[in-house]
Amino acid sequence: MPLSQIPTPACADFLSALTDTLGADAVRSGDAIPTDRHTDWSGTAPLAPLAWLRPDSTAQISAALRICHAHRVPVVPQGGLTGLAGGAVPTPGAVVLSLDRMNAIESLDPVARVVTVQAGATLQAVQEAALAAGCLFGVDLGARGSCQIGGNLATNAGGNGVVQFGMMREQTLGLEVVLADGSVLDMLRPMVKNNTGYDLKHWFIGSEGTLGVITRAQLRLQPAQPARATALAAVPDVASALALLGQLQARCPGGVAAFELMWDDFVQHALAWTGQPRPFDQDHPLLVLTDLSGADESALAQALEAVLGSAMEDGRVLDAVLAQSQTQAAGLWRLREITAEFPSRLAPINFDISLPQAAIGDFADRCIDALSSRFPGHRSLRFGHLGDGNLHLSTDARSLGNLSFAEAEHAVEAIVYGLVAEAGGSVSAEHGIGLHKKPYLGASRSPTELATMRAIKHALDPLNQLNPGKVFDMA
Ligand SMILES: Cc1cc2nc3c(=O)[nH]c(=O)nc-3n(C[C@H](O)[C@H](O)[C@H](O)COP(=O)(O)OP(=O)(O)OC[C@H]3O[C@@H](n4cnc5c(N)ncnc54)[C@H](O)[C@@H]3O)c2cc1C
Repeated sequence: MPLSQIPTPACADFLSALTDTLGADAVRSGDAIPTDRHTDWSGTAPLAPLAWLRPDSTAQISAALRICHAHRVPVVPQGGLTGLAGGAVPTPGAVVLSLDRMNAIESLDPVARVVTVQAGATLQAVQEAALAAGCLFGVDLGARGSCQIGGNLATNAGGNGVVQFGMMREQTLGLEVVLADGSVLDMLRPMVKNNTGYDLKHWFIGSEGTLGVITRAQLRLQPAQPARATALAAVPDVASALALLGQLQARCPGGVAAFELMWDDFVQHALAWTGQPRPFDQDHPLLVLTDLSGADESALAQALEAVLGSAMEDGRVLDAVLAQSQTQAAGLWRLREITAEFPSRLAPINFDISLPQAAIGDFADRCIDALSSRFPGHRSLRFGHLGDGNLHLSTDARSLGNLSFAEAEHAVEAIVYGLVAEAGGSVSAEHGIGLHKKPYLGASRSPTELATMRAIKHALDPLNQLNPGKVFDMA
């Protein structure tokens, strides 16, 4: 029964059971809940939760979930609230459970290169702890200062370094999770090899808080990579960009740290918004921004120069600039980082699509053609992490005539996700399904896959209490 329908005395009993168990400072209700707990970065309509729980240990989380289970009250796990799919927004009648008091870096072994952290630690805190020990954490993204490791794991976050080190899943050696009924599932075994039945931790990575609350994690670290070389290259087409990526990876195995593709529609906005001069004498259809990382800066620069030089000779690269300093590299990256200005400069309808690498060029053009025939004069910007087959497309709702934002979003999503389904791609490369992409999950998953997901959810959370209504509906 949703909490709003629970009679007031039962609700009071429920809140006092929580307060007695967790302590008054860990349970807030009514106006004492800050409004930033009502929604997340996705812009989903805010909703006040019944209570805000701030436990400080796995034992407290287990006790809180046992109480919620006994009272049939749904629980929405919240991390740093930077998610872009609405996954952490309260559902009606739910309590929200925040991990912010569980933020310790518990141990770090620089020789085995493993860090054990509580799930409320921010991504930046983990990166800094790794650097201080002469190591590197392999995931980085713009929300690093606010997003939490638990949220990163629950969304299987990607970001800038995926081409080199993979997504959160690839960094994970062990997890501790609390299930809906309060049972603690201890999977903290920092071993690479462990073929003893199902590897259960993978069910929770990317499950967006619907299967369990992630409380602790053991994560892989990489050797520190103090040197970096950056270049911007103009290419005639996506096939040439992919050939360039292959050549860089062959020359510097494991050293390609970023390989970002920007279509001319994106580049023209980036130049106008940053006021930077054009990087080349003429405009080109596509620019690649790439970073190599490793131990020796001059060796990286030489490798980059050699590969770009030979690619220019065979016509796969039309022009290129190699950053001569970290300041120049930061200037080149400023072009790519205009995405942070999308919310203030556009009314963006954002897509986070994944496709087989070789299909990206055609797919990106088909999107523009389909949008142009329905909305002549639309403003759409294309960019992506080409190394990961991840295309981002942002269409400005204000360029679509007199439609409301919701109408524009619906029309553009129907066009783009229809093309994704035809191409056998994914409607969410990185950000997850949450609430926003729920109607389109079937474009990327077969009925049998969806039935299997529901069977797993039912097995772990038969009362549908953990983040209900996110990713898919159970009924
Ligand atoms: C500026 C910006 C840049 C971004 N760039 C990228 C990017 O490059 N790549 C990328 O992949 N994503 C990116 N994101 C989105 C990304 O998904 C989130 O930033 C991050 O992974 C979510 O972490 P969070 O702690 O904020 O989680 P929240 O937003 O709080 O929650 C996200 C989901 O995880 C669940 N959850 C949170 N904590 C737990 C837990 N402990 N146990 C179980 N479930 C939990 C929630 O219920 C929700 O479903 C970006 C976001 C912003 C705002």
